[in-house]
Amino acid sequence: MAFHNLVEAQRKYFLSDATLPLEKRKEVLNTLKRMITENKEDLGKVVHKDLKRHTAYTEAMEVQATLGEIEYFLKHLDEWAAPTKVDTSHSPIDSDAEAFIVKDPKGVVLLIAPWNYPVSMCFWPLVAILGAGNTCIIKPSELAPNSSDLFENLVKKYFDPRHVTIVQGGIPETTDLLKERFDHIMYTGAPPVAKIVMTAAAKHLTPVTLELGGKCPVVVEPDADVKKTAERIVAAKWTNVGQTCITPDYILTPKNFQHKLASAIEEELKKKYGNEPKDHPLYSRIINERHFDRLVDVLDRSNGKVLVKHGADHDREDKFIAPHVIEVEKDDAFMEHEIFGPFLPILSMDNFDDALAYIKSHEKPLASYLFTNDEEKIKQFLAKTTAGGVTINDVHKHIGVKTLPFGGVGNSGQGRYNGKYGFDTFTHEKSVLKRKL
Ligand code: NAD
Repeated sequence: MAFHNLVEAQRKYFLSDATLPLEKRKEVLNTLKRMITENKEDLGKVVHKDLKRHTAYTEAMEVQATLGEIEYFLKHLDEWAAPTKVDTSHSPIDSDAEAFIVKDPKGVVLLIAPWNYPVSMCFWPLVAILGAGNTCIIKPSELAPNSSDLFENLVKKYFDPRHVTIVQGGIPETTDLLKERFDHIMYTGAPPVAKIVMTAAAKHLTPVTLELGGKCPVVVEPDADVKKTAERIVAAKWTNVGQTCITPDYILTPKNFQHKLASAIEEELKKKYGNEPKDHPLYSRIINERHFDRLVDVLDRSNGKVLVKHGADHDREDKFIAPHVIEVEKDDAFMEHEIFGPFLPILSMDNFDDALAYIKSHEKPLASYLFTNDEEKIKQFLAKTTAGGVTINDVHKHIGVKTLPFGGVGNSGQGRYNGKYGFDTFTHEKSVLKRKL
């Protein structure tokens, strides 16, 4: 029970009602804002050490995104936390009664984060956890050690450990943490570990939010503007070298459109990364040798035809792998699991219905994408396939909308956050009926 005292210290603090007042919640959100703002250069630097990702990307995608979430919470917290009256006109209640929902914080929350966006995967959900009036123990990923070390130092400096604290470590530490009783666990990572988390949570009947990954499809119809489509796919896919949960995992398009699309992607890659992505400051690296070896193994086992390989051969010491576009068959190694790297397979489909059938016959993805001008096809895509979220005629963009929930479905996760959805996730909605005496 290595973490028992830590959890109990947070529970005692929570039960003292210290985290309950809205003023306290705003104060702690402002502390988080100050911590991120005062240290944003260092945050950029540690992520660069871990992933060789350009600091401008970390600033835009992680720092500003988290600060935006804090501002949004500060603006709406009073409204979201207020009791909500409900309509009772269809309920058989007494004439002197009123019914409403009171928003209770849940208590002590465990947040387990992955390495691919270390800053936002720890601090973006933390906004909702704290805004909803909870305490939090954060377990960042051991695979981004420079980021985790900085987070530990910063959180120690800015927060009362009874309110927010960091526990560093890998599987043994997480296993020990999971023996404790929490009031909610949020896990972001891969489905196999999510099963371990959910099993541990079940022992205490602890609710879970699971933000997972999977294979996100991109359907490209031949009527799509090929240049714009390629530009938008390239902008998303090779940022963080494909190590993004909602990145395009594979493309479905008719056979006679594949080569046109691959050539347009190659043109865009040249524009974005020059002739040699290895030397370009915007091109990141694979997180570690294990993931590098995993990716090279898939490439070795693939029977696909490489349509685009933009840049140098892969280099294990540098953890560099060039962007690839590969024509594959359905049973190819690239179609087995989430790729989470810079390979983009293209699978040919006879027609649009085949693409829909292919998506439906696989696990429900975290995100799916469609490029077309055909409104009827858009309607069918939305009605007949499911996914955590969808962007039409672009990639990734739905995640930036504050009024849309972010989360998966089935194998890509359960639960959601982002803005009010996060507030609701870490809140218990207590049903109240009040009569007069
Ligand atoms: P991971 O599951 O390997 O690790 C995530 C966390 O779980 C880490 O903190 C790690 O220490 C812990 N962990 C790992 N093995 C464990 C075990 N056996 N027992 C207990 N804890 C354990 O995931 P990852 O490699 O860090 O991240 C990649 C995956 O995360 C991809 O599938 C990606 O799609 C997904 N992801 C999803 C989202 C989302 O928002 N849905 C965001 C980022 C990443």
